[in-house]
Amino acid sequence: MPSHIKKNNSAKKHNSALKIGLVGYSGKMGKSLQKLIKKSPLFEMTAKARSEDCFSSWESQKIQAVIDFSSPELCLKSLKWCIKNKKAFVSGTTGLNPKQKQALKKAGQIIPVFYSENMSVGVYLFSQWMKAISSADFQFLLEDYHHKDKKDKPSGTAIRLKNHLPSAIQKKLKVKSYRKGKEFGAHRVTLKSKEEVLTLEHKALNREVFSKGALKALQFVIKKRKGFYDVKDLYS
Ligand code: NAD
Repeated sequence: MPSHIKKNNSAKKHNSALKIGLVGYSGKMGKSLQKLIKKSPLFEMTAKARSEDCFSSWESQKIQAVIDFSSPELCLKSLKWCIKNKKAFVSGTTGLNPKQKQALKKAGQIIPVFYSENMSVGVYLFSQWMKAISSADFQFLLEDYHHKDKKDKPSGTAIRLKNHLPSAIQKKLKVKSYRKGKEFGAHRVTLKSKEEVLTLEHKALNREVFSKGALKALQFVIKKRKGFYDVKDLYS
């Protein structure tokens, strides 16, 4: 646990605490973020949005940046609010279509934007390893395991991992998604031939790994005037 995050109780906030508008606050990720924000003197939640109607009251709030873990629709509404109000934007919402992803990149011409389908450093390392797979002499299988309420399939992380493979291998790759129980998120890549099998696997042990990543991303992106950033800018 980073030293600035206290174990129990709410932390006394620094005057310089980063003032956050949280989108999707009542969701699983929203709750996890609220816990960390409450314990840290460095962050303060000054506004929250569960739906697009909430933004009308945000203009009067002290907000320096927005963190969004919601749905593609609400993500884009929050982005719009950030562009209009010139605020930094961090999002981990998955299931965005190519047009929606493009909108995030374009917004980087005006405000600082950080987007990643997976905020964990482990998945960043995993994606780097994927680039090193060069031999196509295998059968390739990518599996993603998530809790039963996850809406997108395959997961944003599975799509991201796939995109790191050389294109010849991407064409051969089978992707399977499983939705069951309370799994926080696990991804496994298997390379198999008649003679050998190689397995690479990442498993999130809790949601804090994503929330901590999002707060780290916020500290990174708040220092930028504008631009589009992702985990490679944070962890490389
Ligand atoms: P969740 O369903 O528990 O929470 C989403 C919240 O957003 C809900 O509380 C809902 O009230 C709100 N919401 C979304 N769209 C809305 C709309 N149009 N109107 C009103 N309310 C709306 O989901 P979650 O597990 O917290 O995940 C949220 C998102 O973050 C998902 O896309 C998920 O895949 C993604 N996620 C990303 C990472 C990462 O590291 N990038 C990690 C975990 C989850």
